[in-house]
Amino acid sequence: MLTTLETGLDVFFLSPGAERIPACGVCGGVPDVVRGQLGPTSFAAAMAERHGSAEVRARVVVEHDVATCPAASQPWHLKARELVREANRTASPSVRALLEADLAVVIASH
Ligand SMILES: [Zn+2]
Repeated sequence: MLTTLETGLDVFFLSPGAERIPACGVCGGVPDVVRGQLGPTSFAAAMAERHGSAEVRARVVVEHDVATCPAASQPWHLKARELVREANRTASPSVRALLEADLAVVIASH
């Protein structure tokens, strides 16, 4: 299954050699880190790489490390990610509390 990861939740682009690895923003797990990747690290940089001049492409293709939650493509993690997104979106503290309670149940079941 093809899974789109979300930067800042289940995937993180880090400076090369970063020692501090953030926990997964969905489940709190420890991400797997792949060091020394070369490429764009944002949507805008990816568009610039694809459509920009050679000079622009050279500036947006940068070395970086990638930290990805090993559970990111699991169905339970996708459900948990949606709960996190909804909890972050709502203006209602009571709805957020309900979503966070549901999130805790999903995470505890795995
Ligand atoms: Zn996770």
